[in-house]
Amino acid sequence: MSADDYTPHSGDAALEVSSYDLDLDYKPSTNRLTGTAVIRGSFRQVTRTMSLDLVGLAVSKVKVAGDARATFTQSDRKVKISLSTECERGEQFEITISYGGSPRPRRTRWGALGWEELEDGVLVASQPTGAATWFPCNDVPRDKARHTLVLTTDPLYTVATGAPATRRQAKGRSVWTFTPAAPMATYLSTVQIGRYARTDVRLGSTTGTILYPPLLQERVSRDFADLDAMMRTYETLFGPYPFERYTVVVTPDDLEIPLEAQAMGIFGANHIDGNGGLERLIAHELAHQWFGNSVGLAQWRDIWLNEGFACYAEWIWSEASAGPTAHRKALAHYARMLTESQDLVVSDPGPDAMFDDRVYKRGALALHAVRVAVGDDAFFAILRAWTRRFAHATATTPDFIALAERVSGVALAELLHPWLDRPELPPMPDAWSRDEPAPLTEAILLPRGISQPDGREQPRQGATAPDQR
Ligand SMILES: [Zn+2]
Repeated sequence: MSADDYTPHSGDAALEVSSYDLDLDYKPSTNRLTGTAVIRGSFRQVTRTMSLDLVGLAVSKVKVAGDARATFTQSDRKVKISLSTECERGEQFEITISYGGSPRPRRTRWGALGWEELEDGVLVASQPTGAATWFPCNDVPRDKARHTLVLTTDPLYTVATGAPATRRQAKGRSVWTFTPAAPMATYLSTVQIGRYARTDVRLGSTTGTILYPPLLQERVSRDFADLDAMMRTYETLFGPYPFERYTVVVTPDDLEIPLEAQAMGIFGANHIDGNGGLERLIAHELAHQWFGNSVGLAQWRDIWLNEGFACYAEWIWSEASAGPTAHRKALAHYARMLTESQDLVVSDPGPDAMFDDRVYKRGALALHAVRVAVGDDAFFAILRAWTRRFAHATATTPDFIALAERVSGVALAELLHPWLDRPELPPMPDAWSRDEPAPLTEAILLPRGISQPDGREQPRQGATAPDQR
């Protein structure tokens, strides 16, 4: 049985992983990775086999606790374990897998994903199926688990994952240990290795670290100057920041798109211009910490719950920082979408269109329709209830509709249906063309004590920006 319809070759529907403990050794000069993964969990159904995703690395040994006669085989993308006896539903397992090789991205319909060797370091960008390029896993978003990582590497390099780190020296090498508190979907697990400079910053109620190539310091300090204000705005509107800290990595290499990992945003050198021109990307990736990373997907078909929300958060940040309001953005994007083909269903775009820009923009328009229908107080109460109710868990589109109706007391299923479930763009709601709503800064932010960032009198012109995850 496929564990997720959009990624039929990934995951094992029989498994529920509770923890991954990785102990890895990596040599940047030769791109050589070796290590062990201890994977614990339970069976969701009666089975005699287990299948884990692993691509491009060779398994040398598999040990199943309590089953000395278990055997394994390896194919190009799976490690299959045959147990000596049938296991019951709910029964626990613990397996230890020794493996190694030269990790590299895997080619998928979504492009090259996973562990990528940079000019001088490593980047891991896995959404949706790249995690298997560096550790054996049940690679589906619904199966969140605890992850700990011990990574030994050359002392010249900084290693970051988003989680708090400790570092010690052993035999001339650095041993980094990461033990994040929150569970994580496999695709959000990352390792960033590079020769980075570091700036620690206060971000709302939490702390943050920005890692960047020393040469980019000037541009980075200008482009991330508003990160604290952004964090405070989001915490007011979306609820408390869901992780222990937030890390930003700006790689020395250019990246096609920036992207999110758990408690981390990853940007290419090309995304940082020193003039805030790509600020919406920074706003987008930060918003994923609430929408996508803490509140996760039960299945990939609901990807709009990540991308529509993160896109709408860009518009909210624009509004809160004295740029064009979300309402203006919605009108502009609505007009643009009228000229585009209308053959995509937001609530089930199909695997090839998961990251289609229309999922982002129409998802955001659907949220704007809810906001206009229920008003700002109820709308942001919905978002905060959403991030509280499904914190560190997974959710579906029906979960969102049910929660939004309960919190607002407004029947929203009928309103959302044409935005989410029909390919043609719904007629623009009448209310959108009447009076423009009061900007967020006055209506919501100031009464709650968030001061408006200064120096933003001029609305930002929409910079030509790459798409993003
Ligand atoms: Zn995104």
